[in-house]
Amino acid sequence: MTFYDVIVIGGGAAGLSGATALGRARRSVLVVDAGRPRNAPSAHLHGFLGRDGASPAELLATGREEVRRYGGEIAEASVTSAEPVGAAFRVGLDDGTFHRSRRLLLATGVTDELPDVAGVAGRWGRDVLHCPYCHGWEVRDRRIGVLATGPMGLHQALLWRQWTPDVTLFLHTCEQPGADEMEKVLARGITVVDGTAAALEVDADRLTGVRMADGRSVACDALVVGPRPQADLALAASLGLEVTESERNGIVLGNHVKVDAAGATSVRGVWAAGNVTDLTAQVAPSAAAGMLAGAAINADLIEEETRRAVESRTAEGYWDGLYRERDRIWSGDPNASLVAEVCDLKPGTALDLGSGEGGDAIWLAGQGWRVTGVDVSPLALARAADHADSAGVADRVEWRHCDLEEDFPGGSFDLVTASFLHSPLGLESRRVLRAAADAVAPSGTLLIIGHAPGDHGAAHTHADLPTPEQIITHLNPDPATWRVERAETVAREGSDRPDTIVKLTRTT
Ligand SMILES: Cc1cc2nc3c(=O)[nH]c(=O)nc-3n(C[C@H](O)[C@H](O)[C@H](O)COP(=O)(O)OP(=O)(O)OC[C@H]3O[C@@H](n4cnc5c(N)ncnc54)[C@H](O)[C@@H]3O)c2cc1C
Repeated sequence: MTFYDVIVIGGGAAGLSGATALGRARRSVLVVDAGRPRNAPSAHLHGFLGRDGASPAELLATGREEVRRYGGEIAEASVTSAEPVGAAFRVGLDDGTFHRSRRLLLATGVTDELPDVAGVAGRWGRDVLHCPYCHGWEVRDRRIGVLATGPMGLHQALLWRQWTPDVTLFLHTCEQPGADEMEKVLARGITVVDGTAAALEVDADRLTGVRMADGRSVACDALVVGPRPQADLALAASLGLEVTESERNGIVLGNHVKVDAAGATSVRGVWAAGNVTDLTAQVAPSAAAGMLAGAAINADLIEEETRRAVESRTAEGYWDGLYRERDRIWSGDPNASLVAEVCDLKPGTALDLGSGEGGDAIWLAGQGWRVTGVDVSPLALARAADHADSAGVADRVEWRHCDLEEDFPGGSFDLVTASFLHSPLGLESRRVLRAAADAVAPSGTLLIIGHAPGDHGAAHTHADLPTPEQIITHLNPDPATWRVERAETVAREGSDRPDTIVKLTRTT
């Protein structure tokens, strides 16, 4: 599993443009593309400034190269699942792999539902067409048929008349037009053919005409149809994105993902661009929308990073910022080393330093200890109090807000424990360790558990994880008062990261 700044789902014009913008903004990007762009059946694309006449496949191959040039990665696969996990997203691919990202760009395009007439699907994008701006020039002055499957058929016939004087309107499954509509069509010299079309007629791999259900044959060189562009909204649904109806000239085309002007969807962290947000957008507007969304995602990440940087200037801000990222950061289970070291101690009073969401403190309370849990994050303390309530031990735990660098809770305790009290801000300073020792009551125990020094990956970037020996040196325990029970590095079950354990008993 790899963690990216952004995963782009769909590598057509929209997705690749967004990925290029993000790569150039030095973001880590993965584009997952199933390789079925909408215009794949066409040999050439038009109406895209600078690339007129390029093949769709060639344009996307160049686009992929551009994404890679700026460090982006391309996976040739289908995304089968996408879900929010905390403040990030988890994306599953049909090759069985999973990836995570901080943001998502959905650019899955549409597929076209074609009229059910024999031969139409096989010639789609060749001499069965829909958009005059894409292909009108190429068939100018030829015999063009328009297959009406609804009221848009009349509109298409009038539109295509701009490219040729020879237009035939096949009424096919369209209702008989009203007198006003017929007047317009006839005034423009368009021939109207009643009856249902049955099949296309082809000779030497070229369209020659339409065979009607009643056996008539009507000649034409190209046939215009009205496809129903359908966005696959399964991923949008699993992400909870709002969708809305697409309508053109009063006719409902289908549903698309609802976005604002920069492509932001109704769900925080998810953007969408291209045909999935606008069923009729051509290549240039789709690419533009992807570019805008890429820039907006980068701006959003910058805003988050700046907020975190400001928050991280204080311990409270840093930890509250971390806890805000997800509803739950830690497992809720007590640390295994704490359980092992404490289970045969007689319960009394306990002080848990850096109590987080309360896993250790709540377990201790359940074992009969009367616990004071201390943390710098008010958010973590609030969660811990809720969890103690649910565990039925709220009356045995007191939660205290305290920045241990500035202050230390008063009183003495039979057990003072600090499990993984690590921080990029250096909370495990000698002063805190010594104050912890001072808070141990006679015959009481000081238990310090942490990560052993070594590579702990991006999740633990603390520069100075102390060894057991360094902790003992910091504490400098007087042998007349303290007995060192343990000071060692131990393997933790189920983890390749060892723990440091230091356990001392105050003898007087
Ligand atoms: C026959 C035809 C000819 C056209 N000719 C022109 C033209 O000449 N000029 C023009 O401007 N426009 C043309 N268009 C319109 C053009 O195809 C669209 O504007 C453009 O493809 C939209 O880009 P997009 O990135 O939104 O979607 P697409 O280009 O369709 O790209 C979407 C990509 O997402 C992938 N995808 C979908 N679901 C998943 C998933 N779950 N996981 C991973 N990948 C996924 C798809 O396989 C596809 O590769 C034509 C359309 C058709 C139908």
